[in-house]
Amino acid sequence: MFEELKESNLFSKFKVLNKVKENDVVTSFYLASVDKKVLKKHKAGQFISIKPITEGDKSSEVRQYSLSMKPGEDFYRISVKREDKGLISRYLHDNINVNDEVEITEPLGEFILKDNNKPLVLISGGIGITPMMSMLYKAIEEGRKVKFIQAVINSNVHTFKNELRDLAKKYDNVDVEFFYSKPLDNDKLGEDYQFEGYLTKEWIEKNLSKDEEFYFCGPLGFMKMIYDALKAMGVSEHYINYEMFGPSADLSKM
Ligand SMILES: Cc1cc2nc3c(=O)[nH]c(=O)nc-3n(C[C@H](O)[C@H](O)[C@H](O)COP(=O)(O)OP(=O)(O)OC[C@H]3O[C@@H](n4cnc5c(N)ncnc54)[C@H](O)[C@@H]3O)c2cc1C
Repeated sequence: MFEELKESNLFSKFKVLNKVKENDVVTSFYLASVDKKVLKKHKAGQFISIKPITEGDKSSEVRQYSLSMKPGEDFYRISVKREDKGLISRYLHDNINVNDEVEITEPLGEFILKDNNKPLVLISGGIGITPMMSMLYKAIEEGRKVKFIQAVINSNVHTFKNELRDLAKKYDNVDVEFFYSKPLDNDKLGEDYQFEGYLTKEWIEKNLSKDEEFYFCGPLGFMKMIYDALKAMGVSEHYINYEMFGPSADLSKM
């Protein structure tokens, strides 16, 4: 599908309204339609495809970025992790600034928060946080009980820490837990993060229930561990939802 997008006319021009450095590696871009058209409201979990390079042989390069804001805003927000050798993520970080124009598609993708009132568990590793943020906003709007589990290395790369803390403070139905695998000397356990080390199968089995609905996104090994833990707990496939940021794969066959 992504290959076909290169030639499609699904793209339209958007302007960068704001560029916010979230931390050492992630920067968010706030985008609005150049034609001032009303933005299509995305389904929580969807992504847009972007073609940021306007000239030269790389101008048809397309990448996908999940929308990380609340559905229904009058802007789209994408949050991009800079890959040291990556073409588009580096280009966005280094060359795209406020008032620049980029071409993007409408929101796309089937990894979306389903209508359901089961208690919800949203789990992210690293940059896998982006679709989870949008799902969290949607769950809040629906008054759904939600456990939000975020695994990162430490505060240097802790994307949306303050936004998440504010949401957890404001809404009783939201419980947020942070895992730091390698906390910095000045990261405080119990304050900056709740658990030291990696999120593990044992933690999942002990702290989560098979009667919840699960969505997760992160590195492949992280997702496979979560998938196996949930299956071992007896969670039905119907309530296990995940997305890969790389080539897609079926965790049940790995
Ligand atoms: C549905 C979906 C949603 C996504 N959402 C997000 C999101 O919200 N945020 C986000 O940051 N990303 C997201 N991604 C990933 C994103 O689309 C890109 O794949 C990512 O930004 C890397 O693109 P790039 O052009 O920078 O890297 P590419 O140039 O495509 O390179 C890919 C990888 O190879 C490595 N690489 C490239 N060249 C070399 C080399 N010569 N030697 C060694 N390594 C090399 C790069 O470091 C990079 O890790 C999503 C992907 C999908 C499919």
